Amino acid sequence: MTPYTLEQLSKTEVQQEADMFELVGVLVHSGTAETGHYYSYIRLPCENSQGENSIKWAEFNDTEVTEFDPNQIAEQCFGGVWEDSESRLRYPKPNSAYMLFYRRVTSSDAQPSTDGASLTKGTVSIPATPPLAAKIQEENHALTRRYCLYHHVHAHFTKSFTGMLKHFDSGVCSTDHQTEKEILQMSLQYVVFVAARVKGAADVEPLLQLVHKTTSVCSECTLFVLQWLINVDQANLTSDMLIGCPVPRARQSWAALISSMMSDLRRVDPESYGIDSMTFSLTDRAVRGDGVLYDAVNMLQSSVKYLGRSLRVWDEYFDLFAAIASLGLPEIKTLLCNGIFRDCLELICFDNVNVSLLGSSRNQETRAALRKTKRPPSYIMLTKFLFQMMLHLDLFGQPARNMHEQLANFDTQTNKYPVLVDERQVIMARFNGRLSFFGKLLEAVSQSDWSAQPWWPGELIKLIVSNAFADPALIHEIGTTLAADIKDYYPDAAGLPIQAGLAFCKACPAVGDIDAIFKAVSYSAQQMPDYVSLRRNSMGTIREPDYLGGECHLDFFQELSTARDVACSGMDDNGIPPHLASVIINVARWAPAILVFDSYATRQKVCLFLDKLIFDEYPHEFDENDDISVSLTQLRCEGVRRLMRNCNIVATQAQAKGCPNPWAEHVQKVMHECAKWINKLLSEESEEYAVFMEPGDEALLDIYDRAKYAIGHWRDEDSWDYGEGKPTPAKRYTLVDLS
Ligand SMILES: [Zn+2]
Repeated sequence: MTPYTLEQLSKTEVQQEADMFELVGVLVHSGTAETGHYYSYIRLPCENSQGENSIKWAEFNDTEVTEFDPNQIAEQCFGGVWEDSESRLRYPKPNSAYMLFYRRVTSSDAQPSTDGASLTKGTVSIPATPPLAAKIQEENHALTRRYCLYHHVHAHFTKSFTGMLKHFDSGVCSTDHQTEKEILQMSLQYVVFVAARVKGAADVEPLLQLVHKTTSVCSECTLFVLQWLINVDQANLTSDMLIGCPVPRARQSWAALISSMMSDLRRVDPESYGIDSMTFSLTDRAVRGDGVLYDAVNMLQSSVKYLGRSLRVWDEYFDLFAAIASLGLPEIKTLLCNGIFRDCLELICFDNVNVSLLGSSRNQETRAALRKTKRPPSYIMLTKFLFQMMLHLDLFGQPARNMHEQLANFDTQTNKYPVLVDERQVIMARFNGRLSFFGKLLEAVSQSDWSAQPWWPGELIKLIVSNAFADPALIHEIGTTLAADIKDYYPDAAGLPIQAGLAFCKACPAVGDIDAIFKAVSYSAQQMPDYVSLRRNSMGTIREPDYLGGECHLDFFQELSTARDVACSGMDDNGIPPHLASVIINVARWAPAILVFDSYATRQKVCLFLDKLIFDEYPHEFDENDDISVSLTQLRCEGVRRLMRNCNIVATQAQAKGCPNPWAEHVQKVMHECAKWINKLLSEESEEYAVFMEPGDEALLDIYDRAKYAIGHWRDEDSWDYGEGKPTPAKRYTLVDLS
């Protein structure tokens, strides 16, 4: 640069010595103009072991400092393009030098720097100004603390210390409880501030269990822990744990600690808990029972409004409310007074415009989050909570206009509170001629939940239907709503509405309403072959695990035929449980459809069920002196005839639609059993069965003969994808000879 400097140009006669600079630092920016990250490469002055100067470079990248090979400077700092070795595609590099730092070599050699350190000699040591030194010390201290805090020895120490508590003085707490309280507080703080923030939060559960175990023998310790958990100052910590902690098991443990300690305190110290008869009344709002129960419910309710921030935590959160509600009537009253029941109704029906619900604005944030989300939260435990509450609510009696009336009208005979007018409106809201609350219940649970036990939406439906026993029109309306829902779903996704229908059938006292559900499930089953071929044509192939539909249909009929816990428990005219009679007489409506369903396992299960329902019973169970046995055999005969006819129809249709040959196996097996049954009726040796014969029976055997021929000519479909471990389509099913 020397020839161009102002000095040189103004005094051309003087030959100035050229200044030399060397690169000592590169500041790199990686990213785009809008966003990115800065880091540096810095030349370190240092001497090697022989005391000679050796040049080293280091990369300073946030808290990471690593050695850097200066030969890489051009590669790392110059920008340009890089080429992906696999795809051979070329991209502009995101990283390039943003600023370069040079040191003037010539003048610095002539004038050593004032602090005596030279970049080329020894290590740099810059005295920090006092505020900076303090800051550095503080940061180093924090780093050490953090290191120790999260060290596993700390967890071990906290656990053993807490565990030792019950061995002090042979487990007897000190009079002033000072030591106990300090240790318990230390454990709880450790859980919130450390254990819950470690990946996986594995220490949370054992530690909280330890806290519970240690305190369960002492009411004062129990009270201390509970008050700590719900104290206004700590309340945010409980919200943090229940809503903010990303680990489900940690959230569950925290919720379990609260509910189990509440249950403990309720037993050992009802006064502190707030339910002793002096301070608590089930019917008076003014007497709210100051105590842990009231404070806990109040504290928990106050964080309902934050639930929109984390939709995945709902199950643990509402399971805690359900646990509290299950403790007893004082809890039900306290929860009602805090409006949590209303909150839950509001959250289930958040998008129903027909529900001008409750007018409450306190859950706006959560409702807005629900409207926006593509992945709704799980409502299973919220449903469980509604169930626990509705056990003590008279849903269809005279509703109360306000909370005072609701409490005052507590019925000491039934132990139930009336619902409020607007709460009932939510449950009874209609949309397009259906009771939308029931549809909402199903939307709000995951498809895969249908076989869970207990299935809370089902339990809730049973409870509501049994509450409505005095109102046949309402029960009928619930039935038609559920039947319409069943028909609305695609058959492969009908598991939830069918489970809801099953729950309804168990609780419903009217045979006609049960029949409506029965027809809807049969209808859904009959759609399956069409639906499967539709899916096959559009997707080319179907994997069996996608098709749970068949199983849930079959499950419905199996459950219904054997259900014992049914409201409609009377016998029909022939002395047979009406559900069983219905499943047998209508067998042809549902069985053939599922028999040509695209799941080997489901088809197999249909055969096993039919064996139990009809074929195996014959003729051992038959007793001509027993009316029920006669009626049942009559029913089975009729079922067999219809089954024979419909199996043939369905098999013909399935074949015409191009269903593969192995699907015929189970249809044919069932027809074979039917033929055996009819042959038995016709045979001359068994005269006692002649009474069941009908004129057309012989012709049914002709159907079987024709079907055998047709099935024998069912074309192979080698291209069918069955997945692994299933019978190969190439293996043609061989007919069983009737003789
Ligand atoms: Zn104690």
